[in-house]
Amino acid sequence: MLKLERVSSLRDQLVQEGYDRLSTPRARVKFTGEKEADDLLNDIDLHPHAFVVACIMDRQIRAEKAWRIPYELRLRLGFFDFANLARLAEISPEKLNEAMLQPTPIHRFPNEMSKNILFAVHRIRNEFCGNAAAIWTGKPSSATIVRRFLEFRGVGQKIASMAANILVRDFRVAVSDRYSIDISVDVQITRVFSRMGFVPKNASVDYLIFRARELHPEYPGIFDLVLWELGREVCRPLQPACVRCRFSNLCAHKNVGDAS
Ligand code: SF4
Repeated sequence: MLKLERVSSLRDQLVQEGYDRLSTPRARVKFTGEKEADDLLNDIDLHPHAFVVACIMDRQIRAEKAWRIPYELRLRLGFFDFANLARLAEISPEKLNEAMLQPTPIHRFPNEMSKNILFAVHRIRNEFCGNAAAIWTGKPSSATIVRRFLEFRGVGQKIASMAANILVRDFRVAVSDRYSIDISVDVQITRVFSRMGFVPKNASVDYLIFRARELHPEYPGIFDLVLWELGREVCRPLQPACVRCRFSNLCAHKNVGDAS
């Protein structure tokens, strides 16, 4: 198979897998593997701010640890419910800092993350009438959701796009388009995208984002979960398990020497 044919076939297979997931009934998302923590995050009707706070925490620590923070805060503070958002908004920075630090630091950057949480809670109270779900209700465009997440302290393109993608892909939130949901570039996605032959080995984050847009402009983030899971479970850094990879017949790593 010629290289260009292989690349487009691989793109089509990845896109198809992404849409296949979207066509299945909504399922509970396993964020942490811990029932109570996942219950809180999956309950975006009654606890939408828990999901928003977890997204904001997802920086420079393992995702499972970040996603567990709203639940851990609920244990440490004794409340984190929707009805108590106002109470959460009134908490002092010192008390929140203490909860972030004791008995063990909840995040690698507890002080900074305390500020981010307080900013988020105040913004949800002031701009979204205390209901974080207003960020995504009313079938907004994907750009609107991403832009609203970008307005939280500590949130960059990667988190904003990831949040929009989880809402659309996993929680099936209705949007008017998916154009602005990019891939959320991390080490897994970079490695797999490169090995598959879509980007050079040392491609920049911007390069990867624009490559995904080029491959599927209608919904660039469609590649996100398939690539990420593959990177975590099969396409490992040192020894990719190509023999059990469903993409091995098309992957560049396994088809070195193809004609271009
Ligand atoms: S075939 Fe191998 S290198 Fe290619 S994506 Fe699969 S595991 Fe990774």
